Amino acid sequence: MRYRGRFAPSPTGPLHFGSLVAALGSWLRARSEGGAWLLRIEDIDPPREVPGAAAAILEALAAFGMTPDEPPLYQSTRLGAYAAALERLRAGGHVYPCWCSRAEVAARGGLHRGPCAVPPDPAREPAWRLRVGDAVVAFEDRLQGPQRQALAEAAGDFVVRRVEGLYAYQLAVAVDDAAQGITEVVRGADLLDSTPRQIHLQRLLGLPTPAYLHLPLALDAEGRKLSKSEGALAVEPGDPVPALRAALGFLGFGEAAGASGVAAMLAAAVRDFDLARLPHARALPAPHGAALPACVPFA
Ligand code: GLU
Repeated sequence: MRYRGRFAPSPTGPLHFGSLVAALGSWLRARSEGGAWLLRIEDIDPPREVPGAAAAILEALAAFGMTPDEPPLYQSTRLGAYAAALERLRAGGHVYPCWCSRAEVAARGGLHRGPCAVPPDPAREPAWRLRVGDAVVAFEDRLQGPQRQALAEAAGDFVVRRVEGLYAYQLAVAVDDAAQGITEVVRGADLLDSTPRQIHLQRLLGLPTPAYLHLPLALDAEGRKLSKSEGALAVEPGDPVPALRAALGFLGFGEAAGASGVAAMLAAAVRDFDLARLPHARALPAPHGAALPACVPFA
């Protein structure tokens, strides 16, 4: 089967160094496998979205020499597919409605175990939770090694449709990785712990499970995840070379970073690409301060 990879940003801010690393890692892997690289805009959480961010991400990716092989898939156009998946889970008896408030779930340590003890409130839509039972999911991450998670302890009965009627990331990503025919998911290691929930959903929905490769997460000077929604600085698409050089160095392809110009750097990195050279850590400090050049605040 031909390799199909993807980058799946949420439009909650511009491309920053952490998301550039995820984009670059997934792009390099797809290109070095002679495969396709797809893009998915995860715009199913309107309250968290920033107007203009999706367009800014697409523009930045193009400036960094990464263009998808198919038109981007926007999750906001996929609500029918998520509704059908939820219906399938409901028909299989895998989900139950839950009227608990966030505070009530937090008071139980953040984990919910069904059935919901709060009486139904006809005035409100419930959240829908997946009953995880005693499911244990094991998989081999191509970079982070063997993983194993008891869902009841790690996630509890997790939400697949939120109170506001919004579909949860875990459900949407499971449905769309299958719809886009993704054979390997390359992304930041902050999502390593979400993967067992996604694999569990794939199994319940009869969807194939792709391979997974979780890249080290880029940390800021204080050791926190560089997050686009918490005001991390955007990489400057007008001057992509310095940030691309830093991202290639972060991934272990420092020589390619020495080539001149975006196209030559990417070509050298594809030529040099070798899984064995990727850093195995779950998180690494990003170059910061003067070493992370050409960053601009996003208005
Ligand atoms: N949309 C998610 C994010 O921006 C990533 C989803 C994924 O790669 O599975 O953090």
